[in-house]
Amino acid sequence: MKITFPHFGNVYIAGKAFFEELGQEVIPPPKSSRKTLEMGTKFSQETICLPLKVMIGNFLESIEKGADTIVLTGSCGPCRFGYYSILQRNILEELGYNVEFIVLDPAGEGFKRLKKNAYTLFNAKNIRDVYRAGKLGWQLINKADYITDLSNKKRAYAVNSHEVDAIIDRYYRDAEKTFRAKELMDLMDDTINELNNVKLKDGFEPIRIGIIGEIYTVIEPFVNMEIERKLGHMGVLVDKSLTPTIWVEHHVKSFPFGSKTERLKYKKAEPYLKTLVGGHGRETVGSAVYYAENGFDGAIQLLPLNCMPEIVAKSILSSVIEDYKFPIMTLILDEMTGEAGYMTRLEAFVDLLYRKREEKKWKSII
Ligand code: SF4
Repeated sequence: MKITFPHFGNVYIAGKAFFEELGQEVIPPPKSSRKTLEMGTKFSQETICLPLKVMIGNFLESIEKGADTIVLTGSCGPCRFGYYSILQRNILEELGYNVEFIVLDPAGEGFKRLKKNAYTLFNAKNIRDVYRAGKLGWQLINKADYITDLSNKKRAYAVNSHEVDAIIDRYYRDAEKTFRAKELMDLMDDTINELNNVKLKDGFEPIRIGIIGEIYTVIEPFVNMEIERKLGHMGVLVDKSLTPTIWVEHHVKSFPFGSKTERLKYKKAEPYLKTLVGGHGRETVGSAVYYAENGFDGAIQLLPLNCMPEIVAKSILSSVIEDYKFPIMTLILDEMTGEAGYMTRLEAFVDLLYRKREEKKWKSII
């Protein structure tokens, strides 16, 4: 069994070490690129949402490198993600590839199948093996996210923000060459030390922006055009409302009740949206309220074109903007999105937030 999975932010770093530690052979997906997207777009239905297209490209690239088993998480509720594995299997079969799909569906969708898939993937003989594997996976993903978060913080305050990029790029390159968890953990510790040694500006107060929206576009840097880096270089402190850690904590670690953070978002969203609308639509609204109440300067909603849950959330966000006088910009991403226009919109939004802050300062003096 040669395992691969979609490229999803930093998950490939933790995923590679995790499966290697469990004795599985892993073919990590190459970083998503223009070529990945072109391949995926060519073989996917035109109107399907962007993440499916990029994932098809990921799978084709991994299959070329020898992968024969695709691992994917499942979903339930009113969103196309629940059909991804079926659609993707059909696309790959039509192209003549006979790969196995192992889908980790939510436990509520059938515990028996989830157990069988988890035992196969984790090379587990009993529940203790599953628990041990889960614990290791949690540690790896947690640390990988900690590094991403730390780099976002350092970039905003750094005297030379490109120094942070250099450290992170080196970490990504070296992570591909590591084998198993211990080696990766050591590399992660070194990276944290390097990030902590980056020289910071004195007395600088960055603009704070919360990134909200559809999970894949919030997490995958190729799709969101490295929004964290772009904003970081403008001296903006970025906080992401969704990360792999937040997802695992809510859907796996705190199952069946859900994590405290996500339950808080539901509560914050309640005056505007009481029910599940699929994907993370409800969390988007809740996160916007959270950022507005917690002193952030603004928020950016990211969504792929045609994403139903986020279109619902977008229509509700105008009420949050009005009620909290809180600026929120929406960026819709698809295969036609151009980098220059995207950058211009980010710069204009950051300028607006700086101006708003200055106005507030003057009003408090007068
Ligand atoms: S959340 Fe949106 S983009 Fe993601 S699968 Fe559902 S509809 Fe598609």
